[in-house]
Formats: sequence, C-alpha cells, structure tokens
Amino acid sequence: MSYVKVIDEYKRYTMGESEIVANNGITFDVEQGQFAVILGPSGAGKSTVLNILGGMDSPDEGHVYVDNKDISQYSKKQLTAYRREDVGFVFQFYNLVPNLTARENVELASQISPDALDVDEVMESVGLTERRDNFPAQLSGGEQQRVAIARALAKNPKLLLCDEPTGALDIETGKQILRLLQNTAREFNTTVIVITHNAQIAPMADRVIYIHDAKVKEIVENPHPRSVD
Ligand code: ADP
Ligand code: ADP
Repeated sequence: MSYVKVIDEYKRYTMGESEIVANNGITFDVEQGQFAVILGPSGAGKSTVLNILGGMDSPDEGHVYVDNKDISQYSKKQLTAYRREDVGFVFQFYNLVPNLTARENVELASQISPDALDVDEVMESVGLTERRDNFPAQLSGGEQQRVAIARALAKNPKLLLCDEPTGALDIETGKQILRLLQNTAREFNTTVIVITHNAQIAPMADRVIYIHDAKVKEIVENPHPRSVD
C-alpha cells in the first residue's frame, strides 16, 4: 500500500445556519519517499487535508492511511502520540522559539521523540552548522526556515508536512528551501507533502495533486521532476 492513502474523505464545518464542505470526497495516494505537492487556490481545502494528515483534525467520513495505519480511526490520545512522534511540520512563518538558539530549537524537538536523530548531524545536513548558536532574529528568512526544517527532521519523521514553506521567502531563497525538501525525500526516504497555491512549485514535485472546490481535480505524476535550479 502507498505510504499515504486518503480514501473518499469528507470534512464539513458548520457556520451558524450554513454548512461549508471543506473536503468533498478527497482521494489520493503518496508513495514513501515521494516529494508531493497539493496545489490549489485559497479556500480549495488544502489546509483541511493537511490538518487531517497531521492528526490535528479528524475527517467526518472516509479513511486516511499513513504507514498502513488508519489514522481516521485513532482516538485523541493516539492522534497526540502520532503528531508528536511520527510527523514533522514546517510552516510559512517558521514558528521558532525566539529566545532559544537555532541549535536549541532543534534540540527541543528532538527531545520529545524516541528515535530522534543527532542534532548536530541534522544541523549539518541543512547547512546550518556555522549558524547554530544564533538566535532566530539574527538569521535571514531562509536560514530560519532551515532551522524549522531541521527541527522537523530531528524527530526522524517518516512524514514531513509543509504549509506554504516558501510563502514568506524571495524566489531564490524559496528555491533553496525546495531543493532541501527535494533532497530530504530522496536521501532519507521521507515522504514530503507540501501544500501551496504557488503553481511554480509543481514541476519540482514527483506527484502533484490539484485540489479545487473541495475536490481532487487531477493528479499528475512527474517521472522526471525538475531539479530545483
Ligand atoms: P485552503 O487551505 O485551500 O485555503 P482550507 O482547507 O483552509 O482551504 O478551507 C476550505 C474551506 O473550509 C474554506 O471555505 C474555509 O473557509 C473553510 N474552513 C476551513 N477551516 C474552517 C473552520 N475551522 N471553520 C469553518 N470553516 C472552515
Ligand atoms: P535576508 O536578506 O535574507 O533577510 P538578512 O539581510 O537579514 O537576510 O541577513 C543577511 C545575513 O546576515 C544572514 O546570513 C544573516 O544570518 C546575517 N544576520 C542578519 N542579522 C544578523 C544579526 N543580528 N546577527 C548576526 N547575523 C545576522
């Protein structure tokens, strides 16, 4: 079975009298070690999918398999353990702890995971060894995002979920971050899923899942994804 398998997933929100269908029967797969992009305009339902994959929310209907386990059936307690141990998260605005150094931010995350990686090796792999004793405010946007990626990877997650990871960066720096995510999928066999409204990211992905109006419109496989250059 694919590493991530979402089958006919529905999520609705009630807003007073009206009901919003955020995910209207979503089905897609992502293979282990793939770098996948979920692409669609604002309001399409991407964050809802990411929240469900990350165990922050549960679907109303359907099944969500991650590593052969149906997380849609998990209890609150199981979801908390899943979120903490199995999934790495990267956000648009980094969300670093401001009064901890780069290295301490990464160390903090590694402490909660039973199979954490060596902090200094992870800092090295994202190219931050020389910056490890700097505080977030002393780092550029791209460097802060590298710290955030190192923090996510230190847990040694099998699944890395990224919400507009280049959204706050200029084009060149954004490409460096995408290259890092692409390499992470290749070298560590980590399944990386990025949600974005930026169509320019699509050619770099192994698989692109187009979402529109709460539904999957198209899934495109890139047999030869462009290296980020
Ligand atoms: P995207 O990430 O593609 O911008 P979202 O998944 O955030 O889309 O939202 C899909 C739809 O669901 C939107 O209409 C949004 O307003 C609605 N929605 C998302 N989260 C909530 C919520 N917690 N309560 C009510 N409506 C929500
Ligand atoms: P960007 O143009 O990407 O925002 P900056 O101009 O903020 O980058 O920073 C350029 C370089 O200077 C980066 O390598 C950053 O780490 C470093 N830097 C910026 N502010 C400080 C600081 N207060 N202390 C140490 N290094 C800094």
